[in-house]
Amino acid sequence: MGNQLNKAKCLNCNDIIESTHRHDFVACSCYQSSNVQCHLISEQLITALGNTVVLDDNQKHQIRCVVATVLSTGFFLDGGTDYLRAGGNFSHLEYIQE
Ligand SMILES: [Zn+2]
Repeated sequence: MGNQLNKAKCLNCNDIIESTHRHDFVACSCYQSSNVQCHLISEQLITALGNTVVLDDNQKHQIRCVVATVLSTGFFLDGGTDYLRAGGNFSHLEYIQE
């Protein structure tokens, strides 16, 4: 236990990125932040929209920020191992376990 890394490979650009501490924001080369639109949305709608959610386990019961566009590529990681946070196109994200 405790070996979960905040590390992932992008299946689109093949970058391997890792967030090593709480304020370590990293994004892969193809991450298109300009295409990301953030909307405040309820948990029910997040479930309906599927896999483009920005997860923040510290705010489980609050409104979350959802990335609505399906045109985005790549993803970002943040939070290190304190809390795993990711956003972007989750179909490009493959977590790496070591
Ligand atoms: Zn990428």
